[in-house]
Amino acid sequence: MESVADVFGSLVFDDRVMKATLSQGAYQSLKKTIDEGAPLDPAVANQVADAMKEWAIGKGATHFTHWFQPLTGITAEKHDGFICPSTDGRVLMEFGGKELIKGEPDASSFPSGGIRATFEARGYTAWDPTSYAFIKGKTLCIPTAFCSYGGEALDKKTPLLRSMAALNRQALRVLKLFGDRDVKCVRPMVGPEQEYFLVDKAMFEKREDLVCCGRTLFGARPPKGQERSDHYFGAIKPRVAAYMAELNEELWKVGVLAKTEHNEVAPAQHELAPIYSVANVAADHNQLTMEIMQKVAIKHGLMCLLHEKPFAGVNGSGKHNNWSLSTDTGVNLLSPGETPYQNARFLLFLCAVIQAVDDYQDLLRLSVATASSDLRLGANEAPPAVLSIFLGDELSAILKAIEKDEPYHGGPKKILKLGVDTLPDFARDNTDRNRTSPFAFTGNKFEFRMVGSSDSISCANIMLNTAVAESLRQYADRLEGVSDFEGALHTLIQEVIKGHKRILFDGNGYDEGWLKEAERRGLCNYPTTPDCMPHLTDPKNVELLMRHEVYNKVELQSRCEIMLDNYCKTVAIEANTMLDMAHKQILPAVSEYVGKLCATGLAKKSFGPAVPARYEKEAVAILSSAEDKMVEASEALSKALVNAQIAPDVHAESRLIRDEVLPLMNELREAADLAECWVDGKEWPFPFYCDLLFGVR
Ligand code: ADP
Ligand code: MG
Repeated sequence: MESVADVFGSLVFDDRVMKATLSQGAYQSLKKTIDEGAPLDPAVANQVADAMKEWAIGKGATHFTHWFQPLTGITAEKHDGFICPSTDGRVLMEFGGKELIKGEPDASSFPSGGIRATFEARGYTAWDPTSYAFIKGKTLCIPTAFCSYGGEALDKKTPLLRSMAALNRQALRVLKLFGDRDVKCVRPMVGPEQEYFLVDKAMFEKREDLVCCGRTLFGARPPKGQERSDHYFGAIKPRVAAYMAELNEELWKVGVLAKTEHNEVAPAQHELAPIYSVANVAADHNQLTMEIMQKVAIKHGLMCLLHEKPFAGVNGSGKHNNWSLSTDTGVNLLSPGETPYQNARFLLFLCAVIQAVDDYQDLLRLSVATASSDLRLGANEAPPAVLSIFLGDELSAILKAIEKDEPYHGGPKKILKLGVDTLPDFARDNTDRNRTSPFAFTGNKFEFRMVGSSDSISCANIMLNTAVAESLRQYADRLEGVSDFEGALHTLIQEVIKGHKRILFDGNGYDEGWLKEAERRGLCNYPTTPDCMPHLTDPKNVELLMRHEVYNKVELQSRCEIMLDNYCKTVAIEANTMLDMAHKQILPAVSEYVGKLCATGLAKKSFGPAVPARYEKEAVAILSSAEDKMVEASEALSKALVNAQIAPDVHAESRLIRDEVLPLMNELREAADLAECWVDGKEWPFPFYCDLLFGVR
C-alpha cells in the first residue's frame, strides 16, 4: 500500500483537487456556496463540472451518477455515460453544469407514500455541494438530494439539510446574545460508531433467512455465546484483520475518516468508528461505509451483517450517534469552557438539548424505529425504548446546585452565579461510564445510542437538530432585548432544569425498575414501531417540523405511511421465509430423520425386550410433537399473514403484524429450534449458530 496520506481522499473531488483544477474565481465562488450556502453561478457550475469530468476520467471513470438516499433506507444511483456522439461519428466525453446541478430520474418505483402518482413519476435530484463528489468503480458519484416534481422531499438528505439550516438559524440568534458576532455558521457534527457481524460467506449462502432477511429466523442456542465477554476487545483474528485492513484502505480512498476498530461483545461482532464530521457528510459517509463494508467482505469470503439482531440470544448491533455543535470558528458549543461566560453559553446549549430530548422523546424514538430495531431495543444489550439523558454525577450535581441556588460542594463550595463564576472542572472520564443510557453526555458531545446498525443516521439527526433548534428558538425569543441578560439567563436555565429534570436519569437503563419509574415520571414508552410511528403526525410534532421548515404536512403523512409499510413488508418477508424454510427444509429433514429412527427402533424391537430403544423412542416422540407444532404454527401463520394483508390501512396492518404474525413466528421458531437439538447434525439442512458465530478464524 502507498502511504495512508497518499491513499486518503485519492478518489474524492475535494478541496485540494478543487483548488488545483479550478480558476481562482470559480474556486472562491464554489467555496462560498459550500461554506455559506450561496447560490452557484451557472458559469461556475460549468467550470466545476468540466474540472470534475476531467479529473474523474483521469481516474478511469466512464460514467457519472447522482447518488441519493431514497426512503428505501439505502442509496440509489442511475449511471449515465459521459459519452456523447460527435458530428464525425466518434464520441466526445461531455458533462456540463446542468447535469452536475440537477438530474431528473424517472423514479416512479421509489417509495413516496402517495406523494407522487405514477403519471407524474419524475422526480429530480439536486447537487449537495457540501458533500464532496467521489469515484466508485468507474463512476463519478455526486451526492444529491431527491425531490418530487412539486418539490416535496422523497429522500433523507433533503430534510437533514433543512434541519441543519434551522439549527444554524436559531443557534446564531442565541450566539448573538452572547456577543459572538464572528460566527457565520453553526453545524451539527456527527461521529457514528458502526457495529457489524462477519460470517463465512459459504455458510451464509446455505441459509435462506440470512440471504433474504439478513438475520437468522431459526437456530437453537449454541453451547457457548457471549457469556464471558471474551470477544470484547479481544485479539483480532487474522482473517478479520485482513478484512479490516482492506476496508480501511477502501474507506480512506473515498475520504471516509475510518479511525477505530475493535471486536465487540458478541462473537463475530466488530465495530468501526470514523472521526466525526458535519452531519450531512457523516450521513453520506456512513451509507458509503455500510456499502463498502459489505463489498470488501465478499472479497474475503465473508459476509458483513448489518442487521440489528442477526442472532437471537446474542447482542445485536447499533450505531452510536455522537453529536455536538460546532461553529465555523472552531468552537464546540457543548464543550464546557474556561471562562464564566463560556460556561454560561455551554449551560444554555446543554439545556437546549435536555429540553429538546424531553419535549420530543416521541420523535427521537420514532426516528430509530424499524422492524429490526424493535428486536434490539430493550433486549438487555441496548437501551430500552424509553428516552432519558445521562449526565454523570458531576454535571448532575452542578445542575442541581444551579436549580436550587444551593452551594455546589464538588468544587468551589459556593453558589454558582452564571456569567460570573466558572464551572468546576468535571473530568471527561467521569461522564462516559454509563453504557445503558440511550442518550449520554460524554464530555463534549451527546451519544444517541438507540440508532440501529443498518439504519441511515439521517432520521435521528433530523429530529435531534430540529428539536434543539426549537429550544434555541424559544430561548432567543425570550432573551432578545432583555435589559439584564445575565439575570434572565440564570432564571431561564433554572426553569429549564426544573421543567425538564424528569428526563435526566443516571441509573441503570436496563433495570426493570427504571421502566416503572419512567412511567411515574410520565416519559413515553413505545416498545414497537406501530406504537411510536403514528406520533409523527401528532399536532405538536407537525407544528415543530413545519415551523422550522423541515417537513411539510404532506411529507410527514407520507413518511409515516412509508415507515409503517416498510415495517409490515419486512416482517411479512421474514414470515414467508420462515414458512419456506419450514416446509422445504426443516420439516422434510426432521421427517426423514424420524423415519430412520423408526426403522432402527423397529429393528431393535425385533431382538426382543432385552434390547432397549429408549433414544429412538424418546427422539421420535419429541421430534414428532415438534413437527406437529411446526405444522400448526405454520398454518396459523399463513392465515395471520393473509389477515394482515386485508387490513383497512397500514396502521391496522402494522398492529396485526405485531400482535398476530410476530408471536406465531416465535412459536414456529421454538418448535423448529427444539427439533434442531434432536436431529443428527449431519442431517440438518443449514449451518448452526455455533458454525456461524465461531466459524471465521
Ligand atoms: P468512545 O465513545 O468509544 O469512548 P470517543 O468518544 O472518542 O470513543 O469517540 C466515539 C465517536 O465520537 C467517534 O466517531 C468520534 O469521532 C466521535 N466524536 C468525538 N468527538 C466528537 C464531537 N465533538 N462531536 C461529534 N462526534 C464526536
Ligand atoms: Mg462511544
